[in-house]
Amino acid sequence: MLAGGSPIGLYLHIPFCHTRCVYCDFNTYIDLDHLKARYVAALARELQLVGTAAGCPDAATIFFGGGTPTALEPAHLGALIEACRVAFRVAPGAEITVEANPGTVTTDYLRALRAAGVNRLSFGVQSFHDDELRFLGRLHDAATAQEAVRMARAAGFDNLSLDLIFGLPGQPTERWVATLEEALALAPEHLSLYSLIVEPGTPLHAWVRRGRVAAPDDDVAAEMYEHALERLARAGYAHYEISNWARVQGEPEGTTPGLASQHNLIYWRNQPYWGVGAGAHSYVNGWRYANVRRPERYITLVESWEPDAALPVAPAQDVKTVERIDRDLAMGEQMMLGLRLVREGVGEAAFAARFGCSLDEAYGPTLAEFESWALIERTPERVRLTARGVMLANQVVARFL
Ligand code: SF4
Repeated sequence: MLAGGSPIGLYLHIPFCHTRCVYCDFNTYIDLDHLKARYVAALARELQLVGTAAGCPDAATIFFGGGTPTALEPAHLGALIEACRVAFRVAPGAEITVEANPGTVTTDYLRALRAAGVNRLSFGVQSFHDDELRFLGRLHDAATAQEAVRMARAAGFDNLSLDLIFGLPGQPTERWVATLEEALALAPEHLSLYSLIVEPGTPLHAWVRRGRVAAPDDDVAAEMYEHALERLARAGYAHYEISNWARVQGEPEGTTPGLASQHNLIYWRNQPYWGVGAGAHSYVNGWRYANVRRPERYITLVESWEPDAALPVAPAQDVKTVERIDRDLAMGEQMMLGLRLVREGVGEAAFAARFGCSLDEAYGPTLAEFESWALIERTPERVRLTARGVMLANQVVARFL
């Protein structure tokens, strides 16, 4: 563990994709396949350097994100899991997630991942309509996504998450309803639902600016989200984070379900994480920083790093991004992130233990105001969003920063 005693999450960034989706602004590249082997070796070295320097701390989760982690061979992903286990004390039974692109996997591939220790897959499905998938620039069609889920089950995975996108330009609500029904028919353990965001610098942004496609309609997106809230509750899924649902397994009402993403819970609980790879973010011992974004530069920096007792071990750190998270900022972020957890919210005791003051001492007037507007609800144990607050979450959480 690090200072503060929290277990950490390990994030490994895999910046390779086969094609570029029109809405994507992630740090990923379609023309760098020749770098894969060197990149994997650099990731293993970065893990070894930071883990050793930190005294081989406890790690609660491992998460491969991207990009497309399944653009790597299973042997590469297996070697990286092993590198995590050497450099960190990875908890027995730790959640090990790989983001998977449905168009890139076979049953044999998934069996190899399972054998390497991966125990959770997060499939980027996005839609079960082929024309929507083509519009988004995705590699797969609906049948491929359904087949990928079947292959994952056959390979022994019992913890699957599906990502879906709603609020596409001109998308009628019935089409979103149909996508959600197709997803439920596959009985995933977890669902992440995101409204389409038009990010600057993407082809989608240019299309909207030129009037080639309509901008997503916020009111329609809100209607789709409300449908998901109602439908997924009826289907036995607990809404535990603004955009995330997990199947209930008998947990008490109001608690975060056991099938929630354990890795992402570390972010939402404002606990420390180590990110390795190009552009990956870390938050350790009160400091936050990102690595350099370009994979070539990242590899060069890690390969050429000479340990020096006078320097902190962060071989690929982008110094412009280094930020000290002081107590006030950490408190605000605890509220901003914790309120996203719509069931557990922000715990009074955990807040006091971490910051040495009560929620009222820190935010009394703001909390009273939100409570009077029925945007939050309070018990002696916690504060959390109401159903109304969930619909206005962005405005509520912004007040704490
Ligand atoms: S697969 Fe994911 S990371 Fe790759 S381009 Fe598409 S949205 Fe971006």
